[in-house]
Amino acid sequence: MLGDMPKKRVAIFGSTGSIGTQALEVIKANKELFEVEILTAHTNDELLIAQSLEFLPNAVVVVDEGKYEKVKSALSSTAIKVFAGELALEETASFDTYDVMIAGIVGFAGLKPTLKAVEKGKIIALANKETLVVAGDIVMQKALENKAPIIPVDSEHSAIFQCLVGESRNPIERIILTASGGPFLGKKPNFLVNVKRDHALQHPNWSMGAKISIDSATLMNKGLEMIEAKWLFNLNPSQIEVVIHPQSVIHSIVQFEDGSMKAQMGYPDMKLPIQYAIGFPNRLKNDFPRFDFKKYPSMNFEEPDYKTFRNLGLAIEALKAGGNMACVLNAANEIAVWAFLKNRIGFLDITAVVEKTIEAVSFIKHPTLQDYFDSDAEARNFAASLIKL
Ligand code: NAD
Ligand code: MG
Repeated sequence: MLGDMPKKRVAIFGSTGSIGTQALEVIKANKELFEVEILTAHTNDELLIAQSLEFLPNAVVVVDEGKYEKVKSALSSTAIKVFAGELALEETASFDTYDVMIAGIVGFAGLKPTLKAVEKGKIIALANKETLVVAGDIVMQKALENKAPIIPVDSEHSAIFQCLVGESRNPIERIILTASGGPFLGKKPNFLVNVKRDHALQHPNWSMGAKISIDSATLMNKGLEMIEAKWLFNLNPSQIEVVIHPQSVIHSIVQFEDGSMKAQMGYPDMKLPIQYAIGFPNRLKNDFPRFDFKKYPSMNFEEPDYKTFRNLGLAIEALKAGGNMACVLNAANEIAVWAFLKNRIGFLDITAVVEKTIEAVSFIKHPTLQDYFDSDAEARNFAASLIKL
């Protein structure tokens, strides 16, 4: 029955990343339902070329203009249109020829193309949480105006979204986002002060891109997810809680006004939320391993250690303050994480950079889109000056 429907044409922004490559695996397993229309990459020309030759999209973008000639010539025997540069992301995002954007670019760079897709009324399978962290009010408003459904890919938000199906008449009392706690769960500052990039990149349960792996280790990821949840589900900060759940099999929980709680469970594997988002409202058959309770004789839940992982508290401050503060927090964090990945600053310095930057950049209560771009630039410059980049 599903096979009788026209294929959904999918644009994967950030196709060479962790989300992007897993999205292509999902599409490959469901070729009768999806076809690839656009692929984009930042610098990884070789993977972009290989993906393009396999999936034959209509158009590809390589953001790094120095890679254009190589991609163009490698695809010269095909009809694939090749574009380069940042602006090409926005131009292709505006194409009429696709139905669903998988927003899989990492960081602030994902905002502009995702906004274009929203303005075009596309279905957005949203992995790029920074889009909502930076400009959630504007993105959600435009989504409403243009009837662009935003379906979360982030596993916690996908869990909540799934729990809310059929509940549109029932207000949410609170949501509880689960957090694995990352590789340094239980550690204290005297340990964290010496941790290095390779250790921080080793997430216990999920295999992800570098930036989100560091964010998981500092708990900034959970803070960004609280802000993402506020916009996706229209919640007040007081309705959003976090619990540490080291096994990462309960992906998040919604509690309704009768006290009943619904949770969504499964192995930690992003292919499921990706498949759910692009297949929605249908659940597609797959051969992913089925959950085995015998492998999980106990599940644990505990309070986050706010004293040690101070990024979470800073993100909650930004969540409560509103305005441009989350945008500033995000920009400072992107710079600090990048510097940590380059071994330029220590693990605990990430928090120091974020904290000083949110204190320094002027607060704007009701920012315009341009204010968000300006705040992002100002925060990046300030954070970079702290690190002496
Ligand atoms: P990644 O680093 O593995 O991949 C990022 C992708 O974005 C790559 O294709 C890269 O080419 C592209 N990119 C990077 N910088 C760019 C720029 N300046 N301009 C254009 N393209 C650029 O990242 P990821 O782990 O796949 O994460 C992608 C997004 O999904 C992030 O926002 C992350 O928070 C979110 N997310 C990821 C996971 C996961 O399991 N990986 C889970 C939940 C949410
Ligand atoms: Mg998540």
